[in-house]
Amino acid sequence: MTQFVFPPAPIPSVAVAGEGGRYPVHRIFCVGRNYAEHAREMGGDPDREAPFFFMKPPSALLADQQDLPYPPRTQNLQHEAELVVAIGTAGRSVPLSAALAHVYGYAVGNDYTRRDLQAAARDKGRPWETGKAFDHSAAIGAIHPTVRIGHPRRAAIWLTVNGVEKQRADIADMIWDVPAVIAELSTLFDLQPGDLIYTGTPAGVGPVRPGDVVVAGIDGLGTLTNTITAPHALERGG
Ligand code: MN
Repeated sequence: MTQFVFPPAPIPSVAVAGEGGRYPVHRIFCVGRNYAEHAREMGGDPDREAPFFFMKPPSALLADQQDLPYPPRTQNLQHEAELVVAIGTAGRSVPLSAALAHVYGYAVGNDYTRRDLQAAARDKGRPWETGKAFDHSAAIGAIHPTVRIGHPRRAAIWLTVNGVEKQRADIADMIWDVPAVIAELSTLFDLQPGDLIYTGTPAGVGPVRPGDVVVAGIDGLGTLTNTITAPHALERGG
């Protein structure tokens, strides 16, 4: 048995609706600018620029009903409601026609973003980790297995802050639909069971503050609720 010099972190995982078992997370991929109206609100041109990928660490996961302590070094924490695809079987260069067979299930996600740090990195051509990959930035609700719900093609996606609607669209509005996302991503990375893919947010992103209650939802996939709380002191291990 492997000896570690200190106890390793637990395996990150997500609840599965209707199951006792949990979904163990391998990696978290995210799609940028996958809805035309959001690409425009971010200053892009969806007719000229294809969506793209970035990542968050699995340690950034935030479950439904967990609080999000306002993160450090930002004045502009923003919400992004997203459909999340949970991969169930491995694949490389997956053809469009076979892509959905690699999906284990779907969930509601919120790609929390330090918009000021993201914009500064973007403007200087620097990596996005400081804006995107911070602690607690990858919120996700329970995963709904395809064996129960199939593959949603059309479904309302929405988000409220303190009960006020901020985002509303349909997942059918995605520039790259789920098969296209899987086909494209699998040419860049060997997809593995446990890979989550946040598929991009529709228009209407905006700031949240301590005390705000943020609810994201997708029809058929339930809701994801997180309260923004005051910044917390550094959590110490051991
Ligand atoms: Mn996003």
